Amino acid sequence: MPQGEIVTRFPPSPTGLFHIGNARTALFNWLFARHHGGKILLRFEDTDRARSKSEYEQNIRDGLAWLGLDFDNVNETPWRQSERGAVYRSYLERLIASGNAYLSRERAKDDPGREVELVRLRSSGKSITFHDEVRGDITFDTAELGDLVIARNIDDPIYHFAVVVDDFEMGVTHVIRGEDHISNTARQILIQEALGFKQPSYAHIPLILGPDRSKLSKRHGATALTDYRDRGYLPEALVNYLALLGWSPGDDSEGFTLTELVRRFDLSRVQKSGAIFNREKLDWLNREHLKALSESDFLAATIGFLPGRERSHFKEKENITRALVPILRERLTIFSDARELAERGELLYFFEDPVVDVSLISWKETPREKTLEHLQKATAFLEKIEEHDFDIKSIKQTLWDYAEKEGRGSVLWPIRFVLSGKEKSPDPFTIAAVIGKEATLRRLRGAIQALGQ
Ligand code: GLU
Repeated sequence: MPQGEIVTRFPPSPTGLFHIGNARTALFNWLFARHHGGKILLRFEDTDRARSKSEYEQNIRDGLAWLGLDFDNVNETPWRQSERGAVYRSYLERLIASGNAYLSRERAKDDPGREVELVRLRSSGKSITFHDEVRGDITFDTAELGDLVIARNIDDPIYHFAVVVDDFEMGVTHVIRGEDHISNTARQILIQEALGFKQPSYAHIPLILGPDRSKLSKRHGATALTDYRDRGYLPEALVNYLALLGWSPGDDSEGFTLTELVRRFDLSRVQKSGAIFNREKLDWLNREHLKALSESDFLAATIGFLPGRERSHFKEKENITRALVPILRERLTIFSDARELAERGELLYFFEDPVVDVSLISWKETPREKTLEHLQKATAFLEKIEEHDFDIKSIKQTLWDYAEKEGRGSVLWPIRFVLSGKEKSPDPFTIAAVIGKEATLRRLRGAIQALGQ
């Protein structure tokens, strides 16, 4: 149990889109801070001027906001390393004045004809041991590092120097980051010690691997978080999934809200071995979270993905729309599936009478006259149901015995086909209940007339 106020940080380099790995690191830092009632701070490590771009910074901010991860320093001017040159310089000067670092004129590595003035840290050559919350004690022999270069000149500190100064100035108590940063830690501790800073706690979290256990990449579907958003994943499903990438609650439960995660998250349950990215599991969690949405949230999200015509129907015909919710909850994995359903014409017939191909109404070899008779009978049965009782159960009850007696296919297929105009659709009871008594009878009568001609 950590003592005093916890401060974590998320320091992305804005050199690319915000992807799964970044998001998982941000989430673990966020959960840890929130669990302990501490703070989490955001900072942009944009020292690589050539590769850092403001649109990447924006993409990272959008991804974080979408996941619902807030930061305790967002109302201040953002921390950007590129804007903190004077601060780094003053710490470099302090180290030089105290004799811990020195200026060293050397030939440039890449161009021996050129001289450079590097700042080097005097090495004590000792070994460094730090405690990692996930991996236990880790020891590095620093003798081989020699006198570490900490700046390329007094105004150009290397990345590790900036990190150490920033973590100190931000009051960071816990550094939670990817395992790929372990070897940086020894260098950063050497700099910290020279500056007289207190060492934060470290936790290096496992890499995320593809199903083939290679490092996760685009080809495993690890695209930008904003792509998941644009394809209609729910942020709560992503958060839930990301939390399980390297952490487990210690029992079988898997479906968590952000609030539950805050309550349960604990560094001691972070695993050492790589976390496998599993798209099917993410999809499964998305379905679970989608089922838990309120009707109005579910509809608002669905409507956002629909093409214009379906979108207007959804907005205008509330009765039909609400009746569609349970059907859509069954059929959608992500919200862009609603757009695909619409594009295949699988939503329109709920709102508009379909054009029915008369030659396809009959089931298999059933003669046309027989089909006509079935439709007439069905219409007569359905007419008897009161408008307010016109639900799946009573519709099914009304038709079932007749269908059993006459052959389910030859009775139910034509009803379903006439109601939807599609060879594939939900069962006829469901469609009839959604579109209502009036539209059901109108469509049946229209088909009876067409068949009779
Ligand atoms: N800017 C580094 C990265 O994006 C963060 C390193 C750290 O957390 O110390 O990987």
